[in-house]
Amino acid sequence: MNGAWVPAGDRELFDRQSPAHGVPVTRVPKCTVEDLDAAVDAARRAFDDRRWSGLNGQARAAVLLRTGALIRERADEIAYFETLENGKPISQARAEVLGCADMFEYASGLARSLHGDSFNNLGDGLFGLVTREPVGVVGLITPWNFPFLILCERVPYILASGCTIVAKPSEVTSATTLILAEILSDAGLPDGCMNVVTGAGSSIGQALIEHPRVDMLSFTGSTAVGRRVVEAAGKSNFKKLGLELGGKNPQIVFADADLEDAADGVAFGIGFNTGQCCVSGSRLIVERSVADDFARMVQAKFDKVRVGDPLDEATQIGAITTEAQNATIMSYIERGQAEGARLICGGAQLDMGRGQFIVPTLFGDVTRDMSIAREEIFGPVLTIMPFDTIEEAIEIANDTDYGLAASVWTKNIDKALTVTRQVQAGRFWVNTTLAGGPELPLGGFRQSGWGREAGIYGVEEYTQVKSVHIEIGKRDHWVK
Ligand code: NAD
Repeated sequence: MNGAWVPAGDRELFDRQSPAHGVPVTRVPKCTVEDLDAAVDAARRAFDDRRWSGLNGQARAAVLLRTGALIRERADEIAYFETLENGKPISQARAEVLGCADMFEYASGLARSLHGDSFNNLGDGLFGLVTREPVGVVGLITPWNFPFLILCERVPYILASGCTIVAKPSEVTSATTLILAEILSDAGLPDGCMNVVTGAGSSIGQALIEHPRVDMLSFTGSTAVGRRVVEAAGKSNFKKLGLELGGKNPQIVFADADLEDAADGVAFGIGFNTGQCCVSGSRLIVERSVADDFARMVQAKFDKVRVGDPLDEATQIGAITTEAQNATIMSYIERGQAEGARLICGGAQLDMGRGQFIVPTLFGDVTRDMSIAREEIFGPVLTIMPFDTIEEAIEIANDTDYGLAASVWTKNIDKALTVTRQVQAGRFWVNTTLAGGPELPLGGFRQSGWGREAGIYGVEEYTQVKSVHIEIGKRDHWVK
């Protein structure tokens, strides 16, 4: 907070157990509402006295570049904490952390290239400028599934715009957010520009979304909490909102696809991060003529994928992050069977002696009204539905309240483009899935969210525009 560590003192502590190993790994304080006020004060002062937004783009870019370099230096340490708290495979965690360094390096360019517009066509008497200004103090609430990646898809863009930050990570995965704050300080970010409060969503998170001196709130998490964020903004100060919420993302496979590639991509799309991924391809929609064969191909991939200790370099699917999430996934697997779906494979927990693991699960005979086809499970559970025509595939894909992401697998360019145009989703993949990088924006259609993160769109999200009208020469007087 304000560029320095605050001792936990007599605050209550939260002990985090490794979800894969069942032993305590980290301990963070449950910050109080007074702590939050102090953090908002620090961010407010840092914004209002222009110690950051008043710097030129070159100086801001230098801090972001140094941050990228320091993340690379500490990549193994950050990845280790990420795996211990979240349960994700260490090789995946390391790749994510390096991707985060890249986010800062990319955003450093945006700090220098961010600009507005000019209007030189308003006649000889008037010149118009449109300037971009940072929104102010940004509250940043992040979930537990990609604690460092989601943080770094936002922080560099927020800082590139000139805003200051109060971040509240998920209570179960706070470590790497604290490490980032330390790195930013080491990289030369002025005190007060990045503050972190740890603690529960229901207490300190709620206080942050209601805070009257926070100008914008970037929330990533469930649609249910997203609704509370919207309510809180309306009841407090109408803060600007960025919302990245849930998804129930379709993967459409046509018979003319490279089915080997598609099966691998589909398995990756639901197995990656144990399916605890907002953009997981959890609804498989397959052309009927190949549906049974394709189900067998996906099952073969599931049989071979390596589920196990996330600290093992060879592991591809690690632990389920929380006991509550584990119970939720298992209850959906039971509900799917009770509703009449056919369990093709998986459906069970893997007994490793400690921790919580669920093997990839595939359901057939799924109808659109079933809860496993409609609700976000946030686990390695895939449903298959067949289609006969492209119109039907598009209709099934759009039959959801969400609109976060979608994939289409086909070698026919007309089908690929028709599906891409007509399926409502903020991120689209053609013959691949879950690809991404700092250039391409993230965000959802419909109930998957508002606004965009990353890319030029991401930095612009944290700015507001001002129109400036400049009179040239002698005024034509109103009072003659
Ligand atoms: P969650 O909504 O329970 O929690 C997210 C964050 O909000 C946490 O930091 C939590 O402490 C906080 N929070 C909880 N209650 C709050 C309240 N009343 N006020 C303020 N903050 C509160 O979500 P989760 O279980 O951590 O994450 C899973 C969800 O996140 C899934 O629905 C997933 O789809 C979504 N998600 C979306 C994206 C995206 O980019 N669209 C990315 C990752 C996760």
